[in-house]
Amino acid sequence: MRRYTRVARAGVNKDAPFGSVSTPIFQTAIFEHQRPLQEGSDPYAYTRVGNPTRTALERTLAELEGGFQGFAFSSGMAAISAVLRLFRPGDHLILTEGLYGHTYTLVKFLLEPAGLLTSFVDTTSPEAVRAAWTDKTRAIFAEVPTNPLLRVADLAALSEIAKENRGLLIVDATFLTPWTVQPLKLGVDIVIHSATKYLAGHNDTMAGAVVVKSPSLAEELSFIQIMTGGILSPQDAWLTLRGIKTLGLRMDRAQSNAQRLAEWLQAHPKVTEVHYPGLPDHPHHEVMKRQASGFGAMISFGVATVEQARAVLNGTELIILAESMGGTETLMTYPWTLTHGSVPEEERRRGLHERLIRLAVGIEDWEDLAEDLDRALQKA
Ligand SMILES: *Cc1c(COP(=O)(O)O)cnc(C)c1O
Repeated sequence: MRRYTRVARAGVNKDAPFGSVSTPIFQTAIFEHQRPLQEGSDPYAYTRVGNPTRTALERTLAELEGGFQGFAFSSGMAAISAVLRLFRPGDHLILTEGLYGHTYTLVKFLLEPAGLLTSFVDTTSPEAVRAAWTDKTRAIFAEVPTNPLLRVADLAALSEIAKENRGLLIVDATFLTPWTVQPLKLGVDIVIHSATKYLAGHNDTMAGAVVVKSPSLAEELSFIQIMTGGILSPQDAWLTLRGIKTLGLRMDRAQSNAQRLAEWLQAHPKVTEVHYPGLPDHPHHEVMKRQASGFGAMISFGVATVEQARAVLNGTELIILAESMGGTETLMTYPWTLTHGSVPEEERRRGLHERLIRLAVGIEDWEDLAEDLDRALQKA
């Protein structure tokens, strides 16, 4: 199947007894055992362990990523936390500097006290990653692209380093989705998504996704998913499947809107910097062209003063001041205090500054978004 067909048919059901075209929501905690009782004969017994609606989503996720097995969690953080359970006290991880705020907080304040060793490095520099590798290093955990500056690691280069050292490469690719990049095909071992964002796609559902490449990782993760229990509910699995059906259309539209807005912002007299990998002068434009089919729909831009930044954030009517991304509507946030507020200032200052605004571009008419931003910028 080609790519639009693949997403359009996500969760289109073929084996329900009544021929329902949409996967049914199996809103049940338990399933009756089949008789006579034989060990392993029941496909489903208890929803934490398995539920047909969740299975439909997990198969879809594996298919979209070209992976061996998919796992659906109750949130992106539940997915990340499950993946990080693969490691033991004394194991060392190399992580992207400027990770998603709560991932950083989870690692720093829950996992480090439990004995995990870490180095936060610029994962867009293979040399920096190589230099950080120790004999205790078990994995690289990279976010692609980084937030909010949208720096893009070369996944094939990172994979080479991981393989040379017999470690794993784990990538949080929430910002790009399998529509735009398929990390497993570039040598990544585990891909993670906050499916709350583009996959579910409507800012109405929390969900997380993990897809792994190998049967042995699948076995380990399946055990962790069942024993830690952060599974996605049948209802939310269904909503995520429904979202995925239009993933291609939404991503294409949001990415083309983002490209136009980034170019428009770059030409605006009040804008001092624009970060968008689709711009030819972005430092990782070529890397992105090589490994992805698009450039995503996240943009960051700067203005001259903090006061101006605040005026823009307070001045739009159409664009909503809210965190997150991936819904139909365009959102704007202030990374300094909102998305990265939980990161200590000294760490924060390495990746961003107070005059930066982040846009999560939606699927509206880009001209309406530009006019809205222009009004806010004029007043600033
Ligand atoms: C939102 C987000 C998460 C966390 O996902 P939740 O669904 O909010 O738990 C993790 N990583 C990235 C890059 C995100 O944007």
